[in-house]
Amino acid sequence: MCDFTEPYFGATYPDACCIEGFLWDLDSCDVPGGPLYSGGEVPCPQCNREAWLESFKDTVEMMGYDAAEKKEPREHKYEKIRFEQPGDELKIRKWWLAGYDAFALDQAALARGEGEK
Ligand SMILES: [Zn+2]
Repeated sequence: MCDFTEPYFGATYPDACCIEGFLWDLDSCDVPGGPLYSGGEVPCPQCNREAWLESFKDTVEMMGYDAAEKKEPREHKYEKIRFEQPGDELKIRKWWLAGYDAFALDQAALARGEGEK
């Protein structure tokens, strides 16, 4: 558990807190200070960083894939993820490019007549 409290679940005020490395919705209790009913799925970007970053992997790959499909340049600048820290960019960039290149591989497979069922 850490002291992470930020707006995360859609509120403009800090509505997330960290319990054992996962974020919980502070608005999901019946009484102030009562038990929280919603959360525990999103890794905490502060104390559970690797897991948190990994949770974006599929999304980032899809963004790269979509960019390739739209014929955007491979050097396309992706939008920074909130709470991203210096050093994360290389990893995110790699995922993005993996998605981007997957599109070309899919196209090549289609051209060879593969991938059709
Ligand atoms: Zn935390």
